[in-house]
Amino acid sequence: MVCDKEKGRGKRSGGPDAACGPPTLLRIGEVELRLLRKRIRNLHLRVSPPDGRASLSAPYRMPLEAVRAFAASKLDWIRRKQTEVRGRPPAVPFSYGDGEGHYLWGESYPLRVIENAGPARVELCSGEILLRIPSGTPQEKRGSLLNAWYRSRVREAALSAIALWEPRMGVRVEGLAVQRMKTLWGSCHVRRRRIRLNSELAKKPADCFEYVVVHEMTHLLVRLHDDRFLALLDRFLPDWRVRKQRLDAFPRRPAD
Ligand SMILES: [Zn+2]
Repeated sequence: MVCDKEKGRGKRSGGPDAACGPPTLLRIGEVELRLLRKRIRNLHLRVSPPDGRASLSAPYRMPLEAVRAFAASKLDWIRRKQTEVRGRPPAVPFSYGDGEGHYLWGESYPLRVIENAGPARVELCSGEILLRIPSGTPQEKRGSLLNAWYRSRVREAALSAIALWEPRMGVRVEGLAVQRMKTLWGSCHVRRRRIRLNSELAKKPADCFEYVVVHEMTHLLVRLHDDRFLALLDRFLPDWRVRKQRLDAFPRRPAD
């Protein structure tokens, strides 16, 4: 699982159904973390905008000492992330107006809004993202049309990447789902051999997208982020660390 807030070994978020207890405050040095006990298997650490609040989700049964030791080992990361998050200008919502910049595979394209009588449609044409909509289409609908288009781009690219990597890795992917996710770039249901990808990946550079696909496919060979997993990633994509860094560093939107 690749998470856009914190990636590393043995951290996995609970699903939407993960039961959740009231948060308690954990203090390590000058850093304060909200500790949430959940019905999950692994620790999950995140630093949220705009104030850089740090939260750590932990399995119910994990002893507090183990949780503290994990948090202490991540202090440098938390401090770094907090500085980064606090210095970030607040996200401005898209207006989906003519000329607004939107990313596709790491490149920013101006949106060209064409209001006409035909059916709604999005396409990339001559360096612009054309958004054809009936006149008077509200902003929210424009956004959902664009998001549906990003979802199709990810699906299309994922099918090609999977077809390319299946024989190289000797694995078989049985199912693919693409949806908008808040904290994960991707996840893998090992038993069902199913991969889920974040539709927002369509905005990132293509080599970062490929890293996420290969990362999730590697879980079909090794479930956890252990040494075997890392060794396989090193073999499949020797530059995966650079790709992952670029993915984390890449702005969420042109205005960022
Ligand atoms: Zn993973």
